[in-house]
Amino acid sequence: MKKRAFIYTDEFSRFDYGPTHPFKIFRLKLTYELIKAYGLLSLPNTQYVEARKAEDKEILIFHDEEYLEILKAADVGLEVPGSYHYGLGPGDNPIFGGLLEWSRLVTGATLQAADMIDSGVVDTALNIAGGLHHAMASKASGFCYLNDIVIAIKKLLERGRRIAYIDIDAHHGDGVQEAFYKTDKVLTISIHETGMMLFPGTGFENEIGEGEGEGYSVNIPMPPFSDDELLVFAFNEVVPPLVKKCNPDIIFTQLGVDGFLSDPLTHLSYTNNGYTEVVKRIKELSPKWVALGGGGYDIANVAKAWTLAWAIMNEVEIPDEIPEEFLSKYLREGFFSRKLRDELYFEKGMRKERLKEEVNRVIEIIKEKVFKKVGI
Ligand SMILES: [Zn+2]
Repeated sequence: MKKRAFIYTDEFSRFDYGPTHPFKIFRLKLTYELIKAYGLLSLPNTQYVEARKAEDKEILIFHDEEYLEILKAADVGLEVPGSYHYGLGPGDNPIFGGLLEWSRLVTGATLQAADMIDSGVVDTALNIAGGLHHAMASKASGFCYLNDIVIAIKKLLERGRRIAYIDIDAHHGDGVQEAFYKTDKVLTISIHETGMMLFPGTGFENEIGEGEGEGYSVNIPMPPFSDDELLVFAFNEVVPPLVKKCNPDIIFTQLGVDGFLSDPLTHLSYTNNGYTEVVKRIKELSPKWVALGGGGYDIANVAKAWTLAWAIMNEVEIPDEIPEEFLSKYLREGFFSRKLRDELYFEKGMRKERLKEEVNRVIEIIKEKVFKKVGI
C-alpha cells in the first residue's frame, strides 16, 4: 500500500515578506486549511509531519559559509553592510525578521521529505513551502534565500542516488540547473515561460548541460499565452521519455502554480485542468516522489491547485464544491466561484497556430540535441 506524508508547520505563518511583496506566505496556510477541509489529512495511509529546521551543516552542503553568515546577521530584520552583494535588500529578496529561520523551516521540511522517501517510510512526500528554485550558492534570488531543492538532492547524491528533477513553475529553475549543470547524476527538466519575457531570463532550449552533464539539463521555454493543451503536449513529448531513460531512484518536482491565467506575475494561460493532467503524468513516472511547492501569486488558485495535486497524490477524487466550512472563513481570499476546478480555457485562431509552431520548434530542437545525446 502506498504511503504519503504532508510536511507542514503553523510556524510558517509567523513570517512575512512585507505588505507590498507578491510572495504571500499566507497562501501556505490557506492551502493547508483547504486540504484539511476536504479531509485529505486524515486518510488511512497519510501522515502529517511537523516541519523541522535545517541545520548549518545541511545548509552548507550547497551554500557558501560567507553567505550563511550574512543571512544570520540579516535574520534580525536589519540591513547588513554589503548584503546587497548577496542579493538581499529592498525588492525581490527583502530583509525581514526571521528570514533565515523561515528558510531553515522550508529547507528542513524538504530534507524530511527526501529522508522519508529515501528510507522507504513513505512513497510520496509533499512540502508545499518548498521549491525555492532560484537561490544560488552565495546569493538570494527570486524570493528564495536557501535552495531547499539543491540541498536535499545533494544529500541524496552523497548516498549514491540518481535523481530526476521536474520543474513546472512559470519561471526557469535556474538555481537547480546551475548546481547540477556538469553532472549526469541529476537530470533537470524545466518547463517555463521563455526567458525572453520573464525572470530570470535563462532556460533556453540550447542550455543542455556541459561536460558529463551534457544532455542532463533540459529546458522547454514556452511562449507567452501558452495554454493547457500546449503545456500537456510539450510535457508529454519531452518529459516521460527522458525520465524513463534516466531511470532515477527518486523524482523531485517543483510544482509552482504561477503559470496560471490569473497569475499577476507571468503571461501564460494555464488553468488547474492542464496542471492536474501534468501532475497525474508525474505520478505515473514517480514511484518515489519528493513533491515541492513553488511560485504562485494568485493565492486562491495556489490553494486550489495544490489541493488538487495532493488529492491526486493520494489517489482520491474530491468534489468540485469547496466545503462550506472553509468558504465561510476564506471566501474573500478569492474563492468566489465556490468551485475547486477552473473553467476550461484555450487560446484560439492565428495566435494558437503561432504558439503551436513555436512549441513544436522548441521540441524538435530538444529531440535533436538532447534525445540523441542520451540515446533515445
Ligand atoms: Zn515562479
